[in-house]
Amino acid sequence: MSGAVSRRSLLLALGGVGLLAACGDGRAAWHDGQGIPGDSRPGEGGSPDPSASALDIPPANPPTPGVCPTPGGLGPKGPQYTLPCHGTDIALTVDDGPDPAYTPKMLALLAQQGIHATFCMIGRSAAAHPDLVKRVLDGGHHIANHTHSHPMDIAKMPAAAVHTELAKATDAISKASGNGYRPALFRSPGGAWSPTVLSQAGNLGLRALDWTVDPRDWSRPGVQHIVSTILKQTHPGSIILEHDGGGNRDQTLTALGIVLPRLRDAGYTFVQP
Ligand SMILES: [Zn+2]
Repeated sequence: MSGAVSRRSLLLALGGVGLLAACGDGRAAWHDGQGIPGDSRPGEGGSPDPSASALDIPPANPPTPGVCPTPGGLGPKGPQYTLPCHGTDIALTVDDGPDPAYTPKMLALLAQQGIHATFCMIGRSAAAHPDLVKRVLDGGHHIANHTHSHPMDIAKMPAAAVHTELAKATDAISKASGNGYRPALFRSPGGAWSPTVLSQAGNLGLRALDWTVDPRDWSRPGVQHIVSTILKQTHPGSIILEHDGGGNRDQTLTALGIVLPRLRDAGYTFVQP
């Protein structure tokens, strides 16, 4: 493996997309970073939010052990894409907060549903909103390191710069927590991984975490799309990617309000990677 290896570069090499923001794979696109601060891509209007009764909601896949998500990966030393595929475990990850407008709403929804998630936080946002960091931890959720400034080109950055991004984020989250909490997980912006990113995360005691189910909620594709994608693609071991920062997340919250009880009622168990 040489240099930065990511699905973003792979997609570009395949010539499948012209604009990253318009490509068909959320991990290849700016899943979020463009909106920090302010998510204002021209022409990105998204779809109106329909009520749940107006949606075509597919059934959740039955959580049959042995029917597992297909992991991507960089080999045995690459990031974790799935949970161990046995039983009924799945995980919800929530990226790009904390955000004063949407993190409290996400916390209220998760508390209502009795679900614990993993919040992949941007260090500078954690430093700006320490109250939200504390509230996330008080809610029983985990916090992952999601870099300090969310650089989308992290897979091309030199080791020292990567180290700074990760170390500053861990320090910011730890300080904001008020109790010395230190993230055990690292999620790379846009799912961009390189040998350097992986090794620097390891040096800081951070386990690399990716995902398998990505409805591209950051692009505001419509509640119907987010709901359908999650319910059709989730199997035992799935790690679901959502966002509570980087822009307007009303669609995300509406969609999760629909799919979380359906997944739970189908027999899935939400765990933290
Ligand atoms: Zn992100």
